[in-house]
Amino acid sequence: MSNPQRRDFLVGAFAVAAATQCGAGAVAGDPTFMNNVPDPLLAGKELPTFKFALEKSEGKVSGKSFGKEATVEQLPISKGIAGVSMKLEPGVMRELHWHATAAEWAFVLNGQVRTTVIGPQGYAETNDFGPGDVWYFPRGHGHMLECLGDKPCYFILIFDNGYFSEFGTFSITDWIGHVPKALLAKNFGLPESAFDGFPKEEVYFARGAVPPAEQSVPLQGRKLPPLTHKYELLGQAPHATFKGGREWRVDSSRFPISKTMTGVILDLDPGALRELHWHPNADEWEYVIEGTISVTMFGSHGRYRTETMGKGDVGYIPQGYGHSIENIGDKPCRVLIGLNSGTYETIDLSQWIAGNPADVLATNFGKPAALFDKFPKKDVFIAPKEASKE
Ligand code: MN
Ligand code: MN
Repeated sequence: MSNPQRRDFLVGAFAVAAATQCGAGAVAGDPTFMNNVPDPLLAGKELPTFKFALEKSEGKVSGKSFGKEATVEQLPISKGIAGVSMKLEPGVMRELHWHATAAEWAFVLNGQVRTTVIGPQGYAETNDFGPGDVWYFPRGHGHMLECLGDKPCYFILIFDNGYFSEFGTFSITDWIGHVPKALLAKNFGLPESAFDGFPKEEVYFARGAVPPAEQSVPLQGRKLPPLTHKYELLGQAPHATFKGGREWRVDSSRFPISKTMTGVILDLDPGALRELHWHPNADEWEYVIEGTISVTMFGSHGRYRTETMGKGDVGYIPQGYGHSIENIGDKPCRVLIGLNSGTYETIDLSQWIAGNPADVLATNFGKPAALFDKFPKKDVFIAPKEASKE
């Protein structure tokens, strides 16, 4: 999950190992657990940086529309998840395209967006999105995004593959522009002249009229898929509320099509802390929507790193690595978090402690058992600013 190439290698290595072992009762199991081949990037004496200033980067610009990427190229640690910040002006469309190697998850920050998406069996859906809404397009499903209305729209895209961009994103103009007209004519049953003047190269951002307020009907008529691609995340009450903050969360249990991604909006009051924890089943990608946070990461062998992130910065925590998020500003902060699993799993340090008896903890830390009676008896999840006062 955190490294498809490595996993493929391991699957291969596992097959070789299994084949070379004696045939009796060949070992079965999940080869992803054979993680004793370290990722070179994570095997050094120090942890690499896990921060990238996404909004300060330039990206692809066309007029006042842009797409800024955080992939393994910009943030090498982020092998499992990539992200894009995208703004579209009125009348601008991110043209019809698909991602061969990643599913796409999105959160709308501002403005209105319309999408179309095609899936297997010819099902297609058109959806309109506003701030706080989420979409999910399964890997390989063709889609477009267009600004709706007379104001720009602005959204964050998250992909479940850090290598999604280069050689992984396929645009319709790039394809059609390189197919001979005779082949296109045969394909569509039209004269070759029908393709005169089509773009020869990838358009990427297409420009046209502001879309009609009412959704237009597709050429084939409406043929809706069994599962919708839209989820109104902030249109609902928070998933959980704490003294110090609140969390909205959407995984496949609430949004069934989102089989490979979970999204979270985390609000922390000044001084509040999303406690030390790790995710057994997913990498984590973070985008600071508002505020200033301190993110810590623990990577075993005494390796511990802290990054300070502000608005528009991106962070990345590999699967299984310990981490925390603290609001160190004087205003509330809001962080968008994407995880590359459709099932949310967390193990919080307070709960791990609470899941052990005092005698175990006394031995482990060389302290009197009575000390651990003062520890929380349940999960903290978010600790408020004043929690640490005597
Ligand atoms: Mn896309
Ligand atoms: Mn986390």
